[in-house]
Amino acid sequence: MSGFGKVYLIGAGPGDPGLLTLRGKEIIEKADVVVYDRLVSPAILGFCNPKAKMVDVGKMPTHHKVKQSEINKLLVQFAGEFPGGVIARLKGGDPFVFGRGGEEALELVAAGVEFEVVPGITSAISVPAYAGIPVSHRGIATSFHIITGHEKAESGDSLSLDFDALAHCPGTLIFLMGIANMDFIAKRLMECGKDPKTPLAFIEKGTTPYQRTVMATLETAGETIVSENVTAPAITIMGGVVELGKSLAWKKNLPLSGKRLVVTRAAKQASGITARLTALGAEVIETPMIETRDVIPAHSAGSGQAPAGISSPDLNALANFDILAFTSTNGVESFFKQLLASGRDIRELAGKKIASVGKITEKKLLEYGIRCDYVPEDHTGEGLGKLLASLPADYSRILLLQGNLADDTLLKLLPQATRWVVYETLPVAELPEWKREAVAGADAVVFASTSAVENFVKMTDARPQTSFCIGRMTEAAARKHGFETVTSDETTMDSLVKKITEYFYLA
Ligand code: SAH
Repeated sequence: MSGFGKVYLIGAGPGDPGLLTLRGKEIIEKADVVVYDRLVSPAILGFCNPKAKMVDVGKMPTHHKVKQSEINKLLVQFAGEFPGGVIARLKGGDPFVFGRGGEEALELVAAGVEFEVVPGITSAISVPAYAGIPVSHRGIATSFHIITGHEKAESGDSLSLDFDALAHCPGTLIFLMGIANMDFIAKRLMECGKDPKTPLAFIEKGTTPYQRTVMATLETAGETIVSENVTAPAITIMGGVVELGKSLAWKKNLPLSGKRLVVTRAAKQASGITARLTALGAEVIETPMIETRDVIPAHSAGSGQAPAGISSPDLNALANFDILAFTSTNGVESFFKQLLASGRDIRELAGKKIASVGKITEKKLLEYGIRCDYVPEDHTGEGLGKLLASLPADYSRILLLQGNLADDTLLKLLPQATRWVVYETLPVAELPEWKREAVAGADAVVFASTSAVENFVKMTDARPQTSFCIGRMTEAAARKHGFETVTSDETTMDSLVKKITEYFYLA
C-alpha cells in the first residue's frame, strides 16, 4: 500500500444534477478533498461531503485560474496529504472528453498514485438530447463526431483541424468550445465544400435551467452568434439531425426557468421546497443558515439556570401533562426521536391532547401517527396560545415542546405551562466559497425564520433583491435588512411556492 489517498477522476455531467452518475455521487459524498471546475453546478457541489476541503480550479474563459500543470501537481499533493483518503477530481461532462483527464491520470501514474475514472455524461450528446436533437438518426446520420473548436494554431488563421476531412464527413458534427471561433470554422467548412444550407444549432447552458437553443445554418452561423448573443458554454451541432429538434424539443420553459433561488432552511427541511422549486424550473441553492441539534433529555443537559417554566426534556415527567403543544417540525422530530431512544413509544401519549401551531407541524405529527386536536386558525404562537388558554380547566397542564430560540409568546399567554427545549438551533458557522459565489448570483432568497434572515446577512454581503418569507416576523426581519419582501398568505410551503411562482410569472 502506498502512503497516498486515491484519486477519482469524476465526470459531473453537463449541468443537470440528475445527470451525475450514482458512482460519482457516492464518491463525492465521502470525499476528503474535492477539486472542481467552473462548469460543475452548485447543485452538484451541494452533494459533496460538507466536511470536504473544496478546491476551485475553475477556469474562467479568459484567464486560467489554475494552470493544468498545477492542477496535475495539486492532485498528487492532496493524495500525499490524505493517505488512505478520497480525492475527488470533479469535471464537467466526461473527464476524458476534452476534459484533460488523461493528462491528470498520466501524472498520477507517474507519481504512483492509485486512481479510478468515473465517466460522466458528456455535454456532446446530452446537451443535444435536451434540445430534442438525436446525434444519430436512421437515414439521416450514421456517425457523429465530437470536435474541439478551441485548438487555435499559433500563427495565422487556421485551427489545427482537418477541415477538408470534416467538410466531407457525412455524419453529425458536434463542436465543443467553439463559439469564439465558429465564424471561422463555418467559413472554412464551406470553402472545403460543405453545404452552406447545412442546419446547425447552438445550445447554450444545456440541461441547466438556463438552456437555450438557437437555430441557424452553416452560412448564417457567424452572424447568428452575434445577433443572438450566443455565449459559452455552448455546443454547436451541425447536420440533418438538427431539423429533428424542431419537432422533438421536449424541454418546456417552466415558470421558474432561468431563476436562481437560495433556500435558507436547515438542510433536513429544505428538500421538500427544493424539489418543488426545481420541478418548476428554478436552480435552487440550498444554503442552510442554521442547523438544529437535539437536546439530550434530563440529567446531562440543562444548566439549571433556565428561566422559570423552561427546562430540558424529562420524559419521566410526561405523565404530568394533559396537552402537548408543538410549534415546529423540528420540535416534533426531536421529541419523537428522544421518546423512541428512551425505549418508549407513542402509547406514552395515550389520552393526551395534541396541539400544533400550523399545518406543516400538523402534517409532521401525522407522520408519527398522531392526529392533532387543536390547530389555531391563525397559524401563529399567539393564535395557539389563545386557543389553548380558552380550553376547559381539565386541560390545563400544558407542555410546550420547542426550540431554544422560540420566543416567549406562548409562555406569556399560558403562564401555567411548562416548556421543554427539545432542540437547539445553532447558526451555521460560515459559508464555503462556492456557496458564497452561488448566492451572489441569485435572483431571490427564501426565508422561513427570523434567525435565517439574521444569519444570512451576517454570513454574506449578497443581497438578492427579492426575499420570499414565511410568516410576518420573518418578513419584518427581512425588511429591516433592506430586502424587498413577498410573504406567503399561509404559513405553508404550498402557499409560499405559489407566491414565488406568481411573482416571477407576473414579473
Ligand atoms: N468534458 C466536457 C467538455 C469540456 S470542454 C464534456 O464532456 O462535456 C467545455 C465545453 O463543453 C464548453 O465550451 C462547451 O462547448 C461544452 N459544454 C459543457 N457543458 C455544457 C453545457 N451545459 N451546455 C453547452 N455546452 C457545454
